[in-house]
Amino acid sequence: MNGYGGTILRVDLTNNKWKKEPTPPELARDWLGGRGFGAYLLYKEVPKGADPLGPENKLFISSGPFSGLMIPGAGKCDWTTKSPLTGGYADASMGGHFTAEMKYAGLDSIILEGISPKPVYLFIDDDKVEIRDASDLWGKGTFAVEKEFKEKFGEAYQIAVIGPGGENGVSYACVNHDYGRQAGRGGVGTVMGSKKVKAIVIHGTKSIPVANVDEYRKAGMALFKACKDAEGLKEWTRYGTTIVTSWCDEVGAFPTRNFSAGSFEGGKTLYGPVMREQIVITDKGCFGCPCPCGKYSNMKRYGTQVEGPEYETIGMLGSNVGISDIQDVAQANLLCDDLGIDTISAGGAVAWAMECYEKGILTKAETDGLELNFGNVESVFALLEKIAKREGIGALLAEGTKRAAKKIGMGSEKFAIQVKGMEQSAYATHNATAMLLAYMTCDVGAHHNRSWAITYDLQVGREKVVPEKVARIIWLQNFRPMFDVLGGCRLQWVELGIDRDLYVPALEGITGIHRSWEDLEKVGERIWNLTRLYWARENDGFDREWDLPSPRFYQEPPTSGATKDQITSFEDVNKLLDMYYEQRGWSDNGLPKSEKLDSLGLKATVA
Ligand code: SF4
Repeated sequence: MNGYGGTILRVDLTNNKWKKEPTPPELARDWLGGRGFGAYLLYKEVPKGADPLGPENKLFISSGPFSGLMIPGAGKCDWTTKSPLTGGYADASMGGHFTAEMKYAGLDSIILEGISPKPVYLFIDDDKVEIRDASDLWGKGTFAVEKEFKEKFGEAYQIAVIGPGGENGVSYACVNHDYGRQAGRGGVGTVMGSKKVKAIVIHGTKSIPVANVDEYRKAGMALFKACKDAEGLKEWTRYGTTIVTSWCDEVGAFPTRNFSAGSFEGGKTLYGPVMREQIVITDKGCFGCPCPCGKYSNMKRYGTQVEGPEYETIGMLGSNVGISDIQDVAQANLLCDDLGIDTISAGGAVAWAMECYEKGILTKAETDGLELNFGNVESVFALLEKIAKREGIGALLAEGTKRAAKKIGMGSEKFAIQVKGMEQSAYATHNATAMLLAYMTCDVGAHHNRSWAITYDLQVGREKVVPEKVARIIWLQNFRPMFDVLGGCRLQWVELGIDRDLYVPALEGITGIHRSWEDLEKVGERIWNLTRLYWARENDGFDREWDLPSPRFYQEPPTSGATKDQITSFEDVNKLLDMYYEQRGWSDNGLPKSEKLDSLGLKATVA
């Protein structure tokens, strides 16, 4: 099959066995790769009601037809599982170089099944596959393990590794790779840890078959040229995602003290230019990226270096916990990466605990003596360590804010900033209705990457509740995640404004099949509906309540900053949902109607 490795590797950890299967052509035809493979395989292979941390759950690691080829940003790989954080669908996109090696080893997917009786790591070198003992690595941080493997096997080997967070069952543990790239959200690292897999080491040397080499080369070069000529290239490469920090602060989208406001009085010292000047030492990118957004930083005060922080981390472990020094944020970033926990969910959990403390809901007796006032840097560092070890108050916060708030009660549920159990990423949405809807309806919980609409809100009128906004969100949800399906990066389109039609001949040259963006969006819509059905299948009583945002965004207007006194009413929240369900072809309770499933050809899939 052109554009594919042609093989799926299935690893039975319980019985210490593995086997390879040919990638089914119809899987490639209907679901294309990456996130599409993951969503389909999760629905079909993981039985209803499976315990996310039990042997029945599986972890699907999938590349796409772009992965490993000369397409800008073709270094993305998709990790899918049943989430231990939310109990629903989880997928996380990881950049770097791992997915290219998967394809060079002939693999479209790696499926981890069962539970190993002891810690192991998976070693893949072309056709060689071994499940090796990792007892001596268990308990180690991700950086030390990656370094050890690089020294042992060589730089050509790519490593995906979990830290203590994943070993200890932190619900939002991530997978770390390339000293700073993550499959971050939803607890994919937790599932890897539950299977006792510490790491995957991979290297390959095979060619990827391509349908029409000339056409693929021509289209790939056109894409690289468009990136090189893009007006925004210099600025984007200089700042990466931190390019939006000052803007978010100015317009009131910068999460501040557990999202109680959208502007931070200490924000200026976190802005991109300050970070660039004070700590950034070099740029770092994924496989085949002409516009590296990764920033490698040196924190003189701590004598440490880290890749990051990028915008989400600056928001969640900076302003949202009241920290205004970029070195402190970068150090918190380093701790999370080494411990193997998601910076966004960790920042959300810490901020929630800080608000509990300031309101007297948690006292020093419950916080192991820590003073959890906003801005207390040492307490933030201590909490991150405790979370990863599930020690003291850390065991509560390791559950995620939804479950932690349910346990503590006393009104703390109202300021657990999450949707479907996933902590909201770093855009305050008090009066930004498109972005609010994007969070409410995102298929993994409150994550931004499916439909990043915060700038659109400002263009159209942030408070407006109109069908056009809803249509925009739906279009983005169908379109943007297609990059995760294809194994590419969306940021060249988002940030450099690359014409998306340039990708069409590239995909055709690789696979030999012409697919327009309308065709691709149809695949995106099919995946969106399938994941929605997955949520409903796994959660009795799944309905519109699951799509509601934190009450903070419709009950508590900020008392300061650019969005002072602004709020979205609960009536408007419901109007947004009504319009969304109608435009999606879903029932009043948010479930795909029979006609919709028919039109997408999904009935047989879910039968
Ligand atoms: Fe990776 Fe950033 Fe380049 Fe995308 S823009 S491929 S995330 S380095």
